[in-house]
Amino acid sequence: MLQRILYGVNRRGRALVTGAAEVLLPRRCIVCGRPLLERGETTELCDSCLERVLPLREPLCRICGREMPQGTGTGNLCGNCLQTPPSFTRCRSLFIYNETLRGIILKFKFQRRLEVLKTVLSLARERVPEGFAECDLIVPVPLHKKRLQKRGYNQSLLLAQGFFGHKNGKIVVKLLERTKNTPPQSTLDRRKRAENLQNMFCVCQPQLLVNKRVCLVDDIYTTGATLEECSKTLVKSGACDVFALTLGRTPLGKR
Ligand SMILES: [Zn+2]
Ligand SMILES: [Zn+2]
Repeated sequence: MLQRILYGVNRRGRALVTGAAEVLLPRRCIVCGRPLLERGETTELCDSCLERVLPLREPLCRICGREMPQGTGTGNLCGNCLQTPPSFTRCRSLFIYNETLRGIILKFKFQRRLEVLKTVLSLARERVPEGFAECDLIVPVPLHKKRLQKRGYNQSLLLAQGFFGHKNGKIVVKLLERTKNTPPQSTLDRRKRAENLQNMFCVCQPQLLVNKRVCLVDDIYTTGATLEECSKTLVKSGACDVFALTLGRTPLGKR
């Protein structure tokens, strides 16, 4: 509520009111709502929520980055990748998409609470695996332009900037375009998701892709279908290799 009132105040006034509010009203954890007791705390999460932002555990599938049963040797492939290898060569997700990460992403994505990602992004930056920052181009998974207009920002672009730096010149936004404005993947079953995605993306500047290794960035890996569709489109248009990096990944058994 207070946040909403503050949007109406100018910047200086807002800083003053925020300062006063911090003295009078404790800031609250953005996930569970518990007061953040320590003054001057640099995170928006309480300690117990922060502890629940969990990285994926090795061993991971060499291609899609899915968690494999403990005891599996490193460098192996999961059943999906053995059966139908994806068109990307390497995908990694930074954290398990559990209730805590879900709470953070929902606030970030649908309530325009961009500041909620500050802490998670600082953790994420340290965990970007080797080789991803060395890709030639970084491409956030695009939103359809109508949805972009409505939301005002593409969460995947903000994530790419968070992972690789705001001024990273390799981030390109006008290369891949979403041509169909279809319902969000999360509202559809598996078969509908695949239909939903067919010919969903196109490449606007294929000349930029020739012999380039591209790193796609998205918020959540659920079935991998969106990333696969983007990746296929990029490879068809000349990219020599595609990596993918997501903030969250649905845990095993919850797809
Ligand atoms: Zn909390
Ligand atoms: Zn795999």
